[in-house]
Amino acid sequence: MLELVHIQKKYNYQNVLKDISMKLPDTGLIGIVGPSGCGKSTLLNIMGGIDKDFSGDLLFEGQSVKRKLTRYCKKHVSFIFQQLHLIMWLSIMENIRLPQYFHKEKFQSKNSNILDFKKLKISYLSLGQRQRVAFLRACYHKRILLCDEPTSSLDLQNTRKIMQLLKDQSKQRLVVIVSHELTLIEEYCDQIYEMKDGKIINHIQLNDSLPIIFPPNKKKRKTFPYLCLSLHSLFSYKRRTFQMIIGFALALICVLITLTMSQNFERQIHQYIYSLVPPCSISVQSVHQSLNDSFIEMLKGHHEVERIQLFLDDYEQLGISFKGGRYQESQTLFIGDDTAPYQNLLLMCGRMPLQNNEILVSKSTAKHLCIEDIKELLGMKVFVWYKYQTKVIPIVCHVVGITQNTTTVDTFYQRENAYIELLKEDNVLKTIKSHMGIIFINSKEDRTKFLNELRYKYPQYKFIETGASTQKHISSTMQQIKIVLYVFSSLAILSSLFLIGEVMFLNVVQKKKDYAVMKCLGAGFLDFLRLILCETIEIVGIVLLIVFIIYFQMIYLFNQFFKQIIINGVMSLSIDFSLIIKIILLSFIMVLLCQMIPLVYMMRLNTANTLKG
Ligand code: ADP
Ligand code: MG
Repeated sequence: MLELVHIQKKYNYQNVLKDISMKLPDTGLIGIVGPSGCGKSTLLNIMGGIDKDFSGDLLFEGQSVKRKLTRYCKKHVSFIFQQLHLIMWLSIMENIRLPQYFHKEKFQSKNSNILDFKKLKISYLSLGQRQRVAFLRACYHKRILLCDEPTSSLDLQNTRKIMQLLKDQSKQRLVVIVSHELTLIEEYCDQIYEMKDGKIINHIQLNDSLPIIFPPNKKKRKTFPYLCLSLHSLFSYKRRTFQMIIGFALALICVLITLTMSQNFERQIHQYIYSLVPPCSISVQSVHQSLNDSFIEMLKGHHEVERIQLFLDDYEQLGISFKGGRYQESQTLFIGDDTAPYQNLLLMCGRMPLQNNEILVSKSTAKHLCIEDIKELLGMKVFVWYKYQTKVIPIVCHVVGITQNTTTVDTFYQRENAYIELLKEDNVLKTIKSHMGIIFINSKEDRTKFLNELRYKYPQYKFIETGASTQKHISSTMQQIKIVLYVFSSLAILSSLFLIGEVMFLNVVQKKKDYAVMKCLGAGFLDFLRLILCETIEIVGIVLLIVFIIYFQMIYLFNQFFKQIIINGVMSLSIDFSLIIKIILLSFIMVLLCQMIPLVYMMRLNTANTLKG
């Protein structure tokens, strides 16, 4: 079945194997004996396809496998190593099952004789017990079983047990044993090859080989073992993995909180500016003459215009109080905005103003006016204080409604230019003189287009988009702050990338022997890739679990805090789920990228040399 044709092997110009040719049968126990250092292990590694660097040819069932040694090894060869090479971070049963992880088929092997100690850790096992585990791991049914000094460190009783087990195995397949104990080999083996200085000096045939008995029950493998295997691998260095997970989680939490904060603050600053200067108004200024009636009438003719608010020259609105008589600043609530339109606002209670001396107040202003029940305000008489030229005049008004909105500065709403009419009625104002006004346009209209039209039609006036420069200025400042935040976030992510990369690399370097063993047991590129994918999913899963628990808690606490310090609750953090999805993807890609180095390292590992070292 197996044929070695003129095999030669050199280590640093030293000929270790010199022109070895052998023809091995389908079944039987073949012994290779010779003094230590004569090249037995080297020959065995070449037979098993784990040492690929040799000259000559290797034939399996008459066909050369020299160019597909990995596949040949995976499909047809099992090993019992001289140093056993059990994987310490796996349990006994997982060690025995390991070859099944890398093959599609499942073979049942009888392992009742280890039942008495199968719950122990590998490190607690005696040498004889470990030998039995290694033997069972190799019993995964393949055509060839190669054993490198399987009994070298055993007492006679255990040696005989193992030899008998191998003898039984040799009825179903080819078993090759390397040993320096000639008597033992002579007692059990069917053929003996004697080696010296890299050459075969003698070949003895004791028994004829029997025809092959085929094959044990094959079953389709059911379980998906990589998740379990990768979890064991990850936690074989518990402290290091824990540190990596905490480090990575901290970096992600910092990034998440920073980005959430910056997004929310930006949104809230924009909202604030929007509420101060809604982007649906245009201010008009006249340098020389007063804005005259005919211009106002013409403006009203445009369908885009919703309302025109004029600012009288030499005029100021001082606020509202409940008392008339003399103006007292301490008794008066300063009103920041009395020019905003109210047509699109929702009422909390009351009705819209129908007359000039009727006003609406916003909810927040109503709260500032009376602490108890704000509905008591309805129908109440208030004094609105105006200063015109040198006179300070209180004008009696009635609160007829409260709007639902919260305003950042105290606000009341009046009919269009109501105060001008009221001042006129009071005989304070005789002729209207105004050099400035605000044109509110319907929110659906295109402000820029209308602005250009106005500039074209009325070149004597100056038209400006209200709030445009403030918006622009704030946006560019926010942009700069965001860039700084992004730079710091990227640094946090970069440093955790190094951390993960380092830990992963250290893990794989320390476990290189284990990975070499897995390669001998049939693990290929796809198996390692799956292993790494599972490890990535596990790391990312644990990290994200920690991150989200802490993140949601922090957002909740922040919001509680903001609620307490800011009365009307304008400030609150909301969670951006697209950001969360981005973070999940980012962390997955990051860990996967870091895992590529170990993957390349695993694949480039020289199996034969790693196992010797
Ligand atoms: P055996 O198993 O018969 O005791 P080996 O096959 O392990 O012998 O080694 C055969 C010879 O090859 C020894 O002289 C050893 O020093 C040499 N050798 C084995 N592996 C290497 C290696 N990786 N680099 C250089 N020389 C090696
Ligand atoms: Mg050896």
